Amino acid sequence: MKNIRNFCIIAHIDHGKSTLADRLLERTNTVSERELQEQTLDNMDLERERGITIKSHAIQMQYSKDGQVYTLNLIDTPGHVDFSYEVSRSIASCEGALLIVDATQGIQAQTISNLYLAVEHNLTIIPVLNKMDMESAMPDEVEDQIIDLIGCDRSEIIRASGKTGMGAEEILNAIVERVPPPTGDPDAPLQALIFDSVFNSFRGIIAYFKVVNGKIRKGDKVKFFNTGKEYEADEIGVLKLEMVPRDELSTGDVGYIISGIKTSREVRVGDTITHVDRPCSKAISGFEEVKPMVFAGVYPIDTDDYEDLRAAIEKLQLNDASLTFQPESSVALGFGFRCGFLGMLHMEIVQERLDREFNMDVITTVPNVPYKVYTKQGDVMEVHNPSGLPEPTVIDHVEEPYIRAQIITRSEFIGPIMTLCLGKRGELINQHYLTSDRVELSFDMPLAEIVFDFYDKLKSISKGYASFDYYTTGYRTSKLVKLDILLNGDPVDALSTLTYFDNAYPLGRRMCEKLKELIPRQQFDVAIQAAIGAKIIARETVKALRKDVTAKCYGGDITRKRKLLEKQKKGKKRMKQVGNVEVPQKAFINVLKLD
Ligand code: GDP
Ligand code: MG
Repeated sequence: MKNIRNFCIIAHIDHGKSTLADRLLERTNTVSERELQEQTLDNMDLERERGITIKSHAIQMQYSKDGQVYTLNLIDTPGHVDFSYEVSRSIASCEGALLIVDATQGIQAQTISNLYLAVEHNLTIIPVLNKMDMESAMPDEVEDQIIDLIGCDRSEIIRASGKTGMGAEEILNAIVERVPPPTGDPDAPLQALIFDSVFNSFRGIIAYFKVVNGKIRKGDKVKFFNTGKEYEADEIGVLKLEMVPRDELSTGDVGYIISGIKTSREVRVGDTITHVDRPCSKAISGFEEVKPMVFAGVYPIDTDDYEDLRAAIEKLQLNDASLTFQPESSVALGFGFRCGFLGMLHMEIVQERLDREFNMDVITTVPNVPYKVYTKQGDVMEVHNPSGLPEPTVIDHVEEPYIRAQIITRSEFIGPIMTLCLGKRGELINQHYLTSDRVELSFDMPLAEIVFDFYDKLKSISKGYASFDYYTTGYRTSKLVKLDILLNGDPVDALSTLTYFDNAYPLGRRMCEKLKELIPRQQFDVAIQAAIGAKIIARETVKALRKDVTAKCYGGDITRKRKLLEKQKKGKKRMKQVGNVEVPQKAFINVLKLD
């Protein structure tokens, strides 16, 4: 136990966590030259393309120092807010953290939010200044920021480069010297913290854990504390680049368990593994049920694909327990599913995986947050779909989720960011200067206001010099109304939204304008209307057009003609018939992407 070091890497996205991790694996000969692909830890295609780590992983290294061999367990954490609960469980499994800051960018919002989590868990922090090879590096200035933030000594900060390998040795030495070995009692009843799980099509669910107290042996009868389910430890082991089976893992060890679990629902990140025969008296604290905060309808373009879509979503859910779904139907879109996601990035990832891995052509409706509806009779219901809202006459009031948002930016952008956030019903809570020209702003805001295009807007008004993070703080009462969209007089349920009363008129108008752009001309006029209840608040018309696309090719080149027809056919496939109106697939999600 005294030669074990468990650590994680915390960093803002793109600051070089994965790259630096690869250098550590290389230095410790954990991966051979041949095995070393760029960014070994990000092993899902999508992750690699987007340059983000979606699921956390763990890997064990051996490092010799002063004649002693140390086992270093690197627990990788996802960097995005959507996955902050997973970050917190990974951090809870460690005794130390490398705090990586890009020397060209300085401290960003996720640097701070992840640092807070690490400090909360009493982790030893090793500050690392990365990307020192770059000409635009500002080491002194960024060191000042780090010193200011964590109150360390300048000499404790390691200058490194994931690109050249500079600092890798120094980092490994610092991990051995500064991070304390794990504590815990090997003779106590077993208590192991699950910090991640993955689905493997051959082996089922593989859960990753850290032994906090006691020992676990292959073949042991174990119980998962929060689900109460019992299993046999068919295989346990440690994680190198591959899984390496072991007979026993003891206090402080990080490893995996395979026990015939079929779906990710049975394994909850944050749950405690203990023995059936000699159970621990209580679970490791901090377990949370992860709740989806963004909901959207997912419908097959072709109604015949409904069962295939169900199978695809079920498959995705096998390794993504935070994805929820239930069947729903829409007058406009037919049969589909209401899916729950952790956040917008999570939603995009699921959508993309449906497309890539299952070749599913789907329509995603405008996302919304979960609402709490209080009826006049005193009932509370959670509503995941605006069209599921009860009649206005029975509603007493509606509550919506709020967040605390943290934005770090340069002082010159305070004005525009303030305008943006106040316009999104934000309330300024705090304004704190990190250095003379870097400021941290905190706002309380409705989650609904940031779900959609907030992040893109923030990026553009700050020219990319603003980073953003948030956590949910609870529900508050809001004056919300349901805004309906009608096409040729028929309400299209999939386009209904719940919106803040003061925003309803401008939003209705802009949605009509946007739909006018999105809906192509048809054989007849298409009336687009926005309504609150029976009251029409905006209207646009798409004028009829009889267009024979081949006419202008008359007598001309036949291949050109065929090409045009084919193009038109292809365009058609991306359309959805709503009543008698053809609506493009993308209209359902793009209608709220205003300006
Ligand atoms: P992560 O999001 O924190 O995991 O960041 P990555 O490791 O994916 O790195 C983000 C980008 O920065 C990638 O394009 C890397 O190639 C690049 N990068 C990472 N570390 C360095 C470095 O030390 N120097 C330079 N020049 N580029 C780096
Ligand atoms: Mg990464």
